[in-house]
Amino acid sequence: MSRMARYRLDDPVEAVRGIGPRWSADLAEKGVERVADLLDHLPFRWEDRRHLLPLSQAHEGRTLTACGVIREVGTSRTKNRGLEVFSVLVDDDSGALKAVFFNRSYLGELLTPGRRLLIHGTPRRMRGGLEIHGPAFEVLRDDQQPEQALGWIPVYERLGPLTPRRLRGVIAEALDGLETVEDPLPARLLERLSLLDRDSALRQAHRPPPTVPAEQLAMRCTPAHRRLAFDEFFFLELGLAIKRQRRRAERRVGGYRISAELRRRMAGWLPFRLTGAQRRVLREIGEDLRAAWPMHRLLLGDVGSGKTVVAALAMAVAVDNGFQAALMAPTEILCRQHARTLAELLAPAQITVELLTSSLTAGEQRKLRERLACGTSRLVVGTHSLISTKVKFARLGMVVIDEQHRFGVVQRADLVAKGEHPDVLVMSATPIPRTLAMVLYGDLDVSVIDEKPPGRQPIRTVVRSAEQREQVFAGLAQALAQGHQAYIVHPAVEGASGLRAAEEGLEEYRRRFPQAGVVMVHGRMDPAERDAALESFASGKAAILVATTIIEVGIDVARASVIIVEDADRFGLAQLHQLRGRVGRGAQRSYCVLLASPRAEGKALERLEVLAATDDGFVIAEKDLEFRGPGEMAGAAQSGYPSFAVADLVRHRDLLLDARRAAFELVESSSGGLTRGLVDETLRRHGQRLRLAEIG
Ligand code: ADP
Ligand code: MG
Repeated sequence: MSRMARYRLDDPVEAVRGIGPRWSADLAEKGVERVADLLDHLPFRWEDRRHLLPLSQAHEGRTLTACGVIREVGTSRTKNRGLEVFSVLVDDDSGALKAVFFNRSYLGELLTPGRRLLIHGTPRRMRGGLEIHGPAFEVLRDDQQPEQALGWIPVYERLGPLTPRRLRGVIAEALDGLETVEDPLPARLLERLSLLDRDSALRQAHRPPPTVPAEQLAMRCTPAHRRLAFDEFFFLELGLAIKRQRRRAERRVGGYRISAELRRRMAGWLPFRLTGAQRRVLREIGEDLRAAWPMHRLLLGDVGSGKTVVAALAMAVAVDNGFQAALMAPTEILCRQHARTLAELLAPAQITVELLTSSLTAGEQRKLRERLACGTSRLVVGTHSLISTKVKFARLGMVVIDEQHRFGVVQRADLVAKGEHPDVLVMSATPIPRTLAMVLYGDLDVSVIDEKPPGRQPIRTVVRSAEQREQVFAGLAQALAQGHQAYIVHPAVEGASGLRAAEEGLEEYRRRFPQAGVVMVHGRMDPAERDAALESFASGKAAILVATTIIEVGIDVARASVIIVEDADRFGLAQLHQLRGRVGRGAQRSYCVLLASPRAEGKALERLEVLAATDDGFVIAEKDLEFRGPGEMAGAAQSGYPSFAVADLVRHRDLLLDARRAAFELVESSSGGLTRGLVDETLRRHGQRLRLAEIG
């Protein structure tokens, strides 16, 4: 067959023979406008039609591919259900086999005696002998050898008007007529990483060579898939590298002075000694502040590892240098907690901490906004109300974002835009795997607090099935009798039904523990009521706090030493780990009980056991990624997790590491490895998401 180039990737799909204006309009609705889009629609499996078998070797239940001449055709009806039966007898000299199609008598026009037919399917034993029902088939042209029709045959998911079978036809036509696809990646890179060229990768992802083993296909780890996955990672990382480089071209507005005097004073404010990890991170931040470009740093560390303290000191430096600092956190509870902590820590510095949330009256909000706009307020803590266009700063120099995965990229950018290239520190207590961090926050520098303040007790974590519920609560009764306090968490994040579950839970606990004092907090509560509930738990008046996951962030009660999570299998591991961090803050031994839901299966329990086995947030996050996939990880969606067509953070981990290194090297190298082609493709794929508009 000639491989005349008739199509280019940029051509409209309508250019492809077989796709008329009607189909192309329907395809456009599915986002398929160009030939490239059509070819991005990869097969989800491949039929193994690599080997031809003589019909004499047909066996009941064993899938085969065979080729023969059509001898007889016939139509009839089934007795019971009245289906139309169209059958052909195929003969290859070694034997014959009856192929049967139901309600497809139109095939009679195509499958006529004398034609050569390739069939693929699984024979079954009927009264009259072996038959093959509804086989896949192909009519061979006169000049076509059966071998030419063999191989891994792509099976596509339906795409708008195109049935799997039609898709196979038009995609084959598009590939046959496609001009050689240019490769944007430097040849040296391909060679170094043993990657297939893009032209071959695109063709082979649809039509793998027969030598490709079935397991490679099942895992999307053929050379073709690896190349396509590499590109998905590479252009994302390239975009992140470009974004980072651009930030480094920004000039900070004013410089910082961190005098020895300030440092001495700061040490004096603290009621404790900083941990080694906290000191290391402060050094890293200090270096950022002395650089010519603004800081963009991600601070990772478990709940209670002391991130807020670090942020407080960084903000104090900003304020001391005449800037304003803003800390944004996702919930009011958390904001109030932060405001309290900061006020205590920074009281010796005579810095007033302001709090901007929607629970302020309109008048209070307006007055605070005025103070921020004229610069008399130097440090503010707030929810996303900080992003409001009404909020203006006189000289915003530092932005801290807590639990940053709760905010989208755009929200973060909106706050940052209120200053002139301010320093940005984003914090997260949700441990995330290194690979996911590279994809989500690859443009940021990363600091990790991997050490807990001294004196923390290890938390004993156990997994219990629903049948063990009674024992769990008997255990809790004992703990309460000894004066412990407990959290009981429900996975009722949103929605009325979730809330009902938590409320039913509340009734149950009040019945079980009539003496204890049981209070509840949830996201839909009025703030005053919630405060009252928290207050009575914090003061020890109530021994049990029933909560939805909002306690994940922002409640700090040292005397609480037990946490029971109901329906724990409905949470992600990283989230459970974060919840668990609510206990173990005081001197006494703490417990975390993960109570599985009645429906939980072996695998879910096994997943929970990971938490019992380790306290290392990063190990837990890696496991979570393996079990649930990146899309399910806490906050991945809000943070703009890109949906990859082929690439997979677990299966193609090695490719991500290679892609990141290659992309950053390319951008940082002075030899100008960054070509227009690479930049264009980056913009096309990720320009919007990364807010990369034009790159020179
Ligand atoms: P995070 O923000 O990481 O959850 P915080 O900064 O809120 O952690 O600190 C948690 C608790 O530990 C707070 O009560 C804080 O005062 C205390 N803390 C922080 N750093 C230290 C330290 N180095 N030594 C003792 N206690 C500390
Ligand atoms: Mg915190």
